[in-house]
Amino acid sequence: MKVVCGNWKMFKTQPEAKAWARSFTEAPLPATGDVKVRIYASFTSIATLADALGKSGVSVGGQNLHPADDGAFTGEVSARMLLDAGAESVLVGHSERRHVFGETDEFLADKVRSALNAGLHTVFCVGETLDEREAGTTHEVLTRQVERGLARLSAADLDRVELAYEPVWAIGTGKVAEVEQVRDAHQFLHEQLRTRYGRTVPVLYGGSVKPSNALEILSTPGVDGVLVGGASLQPGDFLEVVRAAEKTA
Ligand code: PEP
Repeated sequence: MKVVCGNWKMFKTQPEAKAWARSFTEAPLPATGDVKVRIYASFTSIATLADALGKSGVSVGGQNLHPADDGAFTGEVSARMLLDAGAESVLVGHSERRHVFGETDEFLADKVRSALNAGLHTVFCVGETLDEREAGTTHEVLTRQVERGLARLSAADLDRVELAYEPVWAIGTGKVAEVEQVRDAHQFLHEQLRTRYGRTVPVLYGGSVKPSNALEILSTPGVDGVLVGGASLQPGDFLEVVRAAEKTA
């Protein structure tokens, strides 16, 4: 089984989301058992996209949430609101949330707990910056992010969690990590989870995945799927990534 997720970031209005769904679902999609497909859309497009995707088997998620159930948090959206809009999953700890918006490991741990409490599946994103990689601290960074971000979870909670390994220097830059770097990070994350919880979860790779490199990445040991940013915006490109996942599922 492979997982293919699209992260639309801050792109697409509702009519654009609908047009994407129309185009993407024109082609026959893989049997949902082999490849799971999810799109993480902006808050404003979640309900429209979920409706437009209907029974296609493609599910919709949010890109962020606030850990509180509700309250005086102007501009924020809770897990319950995401579910209400039709989201089944949520991204937590995307590098843009960590590095552009300064979200800490502790705040992210609260978000993961809140998402799972509400019944949302969660993709928890981790990854080192270029400075951290060059300083030789990649494993240390990944250990810290996993330990702190998942600090409030039990082994049973992991049924509804996936990890995404996204080296910050490879996101939106066109630079893809080398196969050996991807293999090493994924195997390290699987080991971390086995040591800590006695089990592991699917670990997706993210960072400039596109049709031309998807097959190689998806064939790398330890890679259970991909989180695709830029190349998920065009339905044709995203479908090619899904087709690559079908071949390796
Ligand atoms: C992402 O947004 O998670 C991502 C990996 O982006 P891109 O594929 O554009 O590098």
